Amino acid sequence: MLPESEITRVLVVTAHPDDADFGAAGSVALFADRGVEVTYLLVTDGDAGGNDRALDHSGMAELRRAEQAAAAKCVGVSDLRFLGLPDGTVVPSPDLRKEIARTIRQVRPELVITHHPERNYQFIAPSHPDHRAVGGATLDAVYPDARNPYAFPDLLEEGLEAWTVREVWLMGGPTRNHWVDITPVLDRKLAALQSHTSQVGHVEGFVETVRGRLATWARQAGLPDGHYAEGFQVVDTA
Ligand SMILES: [Zn+2]
Repeated sequence: MLPESEITRVLVVTAHPDDADFGAAGSVALFADRGVEVTYLLVTDGDAGGNDRALDHSGMAELRRAEQAAAAKCVGVSDLRFLGLPDGTVVPSPDLRKEIARTIRQVRPELVITHHPERNYQFIAPSHPDHRAVGGATLDAVYPDARNPYAFPDLLEEGLEAWTVREVWLMGGPTRNHWVDITPVLDRKLAALQSHTSQVGHVEGFVETVRGRLATWARQAGLPDGHYAEGFQVVDTA
């Protein structure tokens, strides 16, 4: 794995507002506290989420961008970028790979965090089709697109040189092999999640459910009782 001292910039690529907070906000807070620059790239505005029928798609998109900005602030992130694709129908197209490769070349992260592109049959919730599509497109953007100067040559014309991401952490997949002890920043992760009022405000026992899941992962990680963890599959992409 990449030594912590060699991670100075992290790009988190997700399908919807709230995904980064469910999967990685604790780890993000720990990075931000160490002075690592963290950027969020959101492929959709989550305009098909929530249960407020009074809002149309553009109203929901606006609300969810604002909720994501508030959540990001809880964990020290202020650089948010939105591609604005329609929620629910994302496919890992060459166009999407190009948009992600463009952001990788702009941000030049050592580490990218994104969705696992495979379905998790043990726990279906993280395997939304948009998540799998974004995970696949992001891995393709990491390898080969962002590092290959011959891929999407107009990016070079924009002044964006090829960039090699050295490591990817995948959220929500069936094969987690890296655990981050987020106990010191648990409250900030929970605050970030609760910023997504349109998504979780009506869910009874939401905080207890999340806390229980993070505690289970901490036990899987071999951490003592009273600890909380996020889990990832680490992919060496250097
Ligand atoms: Zn999502």
